[in-house]
Amino acid sequence: MIRFENVTKRYRGTKRPALSGVDFEVQRGEFVFLVGASGSGKSSCLQLILREESPTSGRVAVLGRDLKSIANRKVPYFRRSIGSVFQDFRLLPSKTVYQNVAFTLQVTGASRGFIQQAVPEALALVGLSGKEKRLPHELSGGEQQRVAIARAIVNRPQIVLADEPTGNLDPGTSVDIMQLLARINAGGTTVLMATHEAAFVDQMQRRVIELRDGEMVRDEVGGGYGDTSNVPRLEPEAIRGAAATAALQTVREVHRQTEAAIADPASAPTPVVEHHAAATAAPTTVPQQATLKPSDDARPATHPITIPAVDLAELGVADRLGLDTGDDEEVGPTS
Ligand code: ADP
Ligand code: MG
Repeated sequence: MIRFENVTKRYRGTKRPALSGVDFEVQRGEFVFLVGASGSGKSSCLQLILREESPTSGRVAVLGRDLKSIANRKVPYFRRSIGSVFQDFRLLPSKTVYQNVAFTLQVTGASRGFIQQAVPEALALVGLSGKEKRLPHELSGGEQQRVAIARAIVNRPQIVLADEPTGNLDPGTSVDIMQLLARINAGGTTVLMATHEAAFVDQMQRRVIELRDGEMVRDEVGGGYGDTSNVPRLEPEAIRGAAATAALQTVREVHRQTEAAIADPASAPTPVVEHHAAATAAPTTVPQQATLKPSDDARPATHPITIPAVDLAELGVADRLGLDTGDDEEVGPTS
């Protein structure tokens, strides 16, 4: 799902490489902590996964593709299969909770029907039902991060990357956010979370990859991170059934096809499975790929909707949403 092969990253004008010889593979459905002190290379790893940066040597493959082989103009599409969460939330301050979550779907041309279903679902999942009309400044830090998480998952990405998502939150709120990420992972999403905080990692009993000065010094399944004896305990998260995972996969496949329809309306199949139908008709085993048959009179299932006027600089992710104009421009970092 995510593969680093002997990756070295050297930033221009720096002496020491930010990453050297980093080698690991994350499987579908894993929850992995990327830990290490500030400056150890965690964010660089995440930027490489998003193709915001490229390795100086070595190879990064995500979702089965060598990132070098993805044309620059295809990078925004690639990034839609990855949800990102940051320490500083990065919400649109003048937009409501609902609008913040709906925004990415709107600019990527998702259908009105899909948006009207997916946004409330995402907000319910993060526990923010009833707060749709609030503005970010009317929310607590933890709630703002929940909005950011809802935004990251509303597109039903296969991977969620979280870069110090609890860095601005108090310990109690951090626990909530970690549990939320664990729940998202339990639904089948691969989660990679960078943190320099020792707290909680131990208790989560998940895989830990530790970086020190850009080198991988540990890759431990169910590992910990220092002494966390004085940290409040987390309740173990119930793993959802295979049927739920299968349903989620099916929905993702519908959405993938919808996006394909937007990208290439002529050749697109019509997604025929509705979300609720998929949920009830889900098989008991987890399919690698949902099997949806294209119909003969193929029509894109979505139509472009009006994009609300918004200051994209405010969001700082225009390139991630495919709104940059230059096709072959180098894709830069989003921050
Ligand atoms: P972490 O997220 O663990 O704090 P980073 O990946 O941000 O670590 O940084 C790793 C190293 O790379 C640090 O020494 C940092 O200063 C350097 N670095 C990160 N980004 C850049 C950049 N864009 N240009 C130059 N140096 C950078
Ligand atoms: Mg960082």
